[in-house]
Amino acid sequence: MDSNRRMEGKVAVVTGGGSGIGRAAAVRLAQHGARVCILDLGEKRAAEAEEEIRAAGGDAFVVDVDVSDPARVEGGIGEAVKRYGRLDFVFANAGINGKLAPIEDLSPDDWDNTITTNLKGTFLAVKYAIPHLRQEGGSITITSSINGNRTFSMFGASAYSTSKAGQVAFMQMAALELARYKIRVNAICPGAIATNIDQTTSKDPMLKKIEIPVHYPEGAQPLERGPGSAEQVADLVLFLASDESSHITGTAIYIDGAESLLHG
Ligand code: NAD
Repeated sequence: MDSNRRMEGKVAVVTGGGSGIGRAAAVRLAQHGARVCILDLGEKRAAEAEEEIRAAGGDAFVVDVDVSDPARVEGGIGEAVKRYGRLDFVFANAGINGKLAPIEDLSPDDWDNTITTNLKGTFLAVKYAIPHLRQEGGSITITSSINGNRTFSMFGASAYSTSKAGQVAFMQMAALELARYKIRVNAICPGAIATNIDQTTSKDPMLKKIEIPVHYPEGAQPLERGPGSAEQVADLVLFLASDESSHITGTAIYIDGAESLLHG
């Protein structure tokens, strides 16, 4: 076995694997030998991610899943196990920015949409993976954010930040609970990463009334003076998926080029 292929023989489920961080992680995991099941909304982009992995000699397939739908999440994870015979790693990553608005202008439906996709979606991916992961142990990584944990300056993102803080609390509960099954659970907290997430952002015009102007003339990311790449985050996901992180569980890891220390 090529020891550089750190996921050889392993099976991974990646939610939101059709774009951005999820797609880069799916590609990286497959490059390291994992067979990958992508759960994403039935989009052209998810099919392209599958195609990219196959073109490079990897193995992947897509299941059309809305992560907020319990039956579809359970079914999607079941498809992965049916096709590949096991489950080793779950990347609970799908998420949206959702509606950004002052709290008094944010509708209950907009609140629910963000919390349901980001937080309930995480719970469902973890819940339905447990029966499979506990067979031989495994790893779960949840994509949280600097927002809601170290920084609170994404104005209007009260629902988003709450979902991201909730994911870290949930991760810690799950890490303790699932240790008995040798399932490790960690969260990653990216800063600004160049992806398509802005397409899921809707800004309310009333935002102007709550914004506090903050300007860093030399950029908000001290390390690289710009957003990180999805591929940089994928390297961390691979590490947390692989046995190289065998003693790491219950931890939130920041990947932001020190952005959150400046913004905190
Ligand atoms: P992205 O929009 O490029 O990718 C998100 C993927 O999730 C898309 O393929 C989308 O179709 C999928 N998705 C969204 N809602 C879904 C649903 N209900 N069911 C199934 N799939 C769904 O965005 P990204 O930046 O790669 O976001 C991935 C994660 O990273 C999110 O949880 C986000 O909160 C987090 N994050 C992103 C940044 C950033 O700057 N990009 C920073 C911190 C955290």
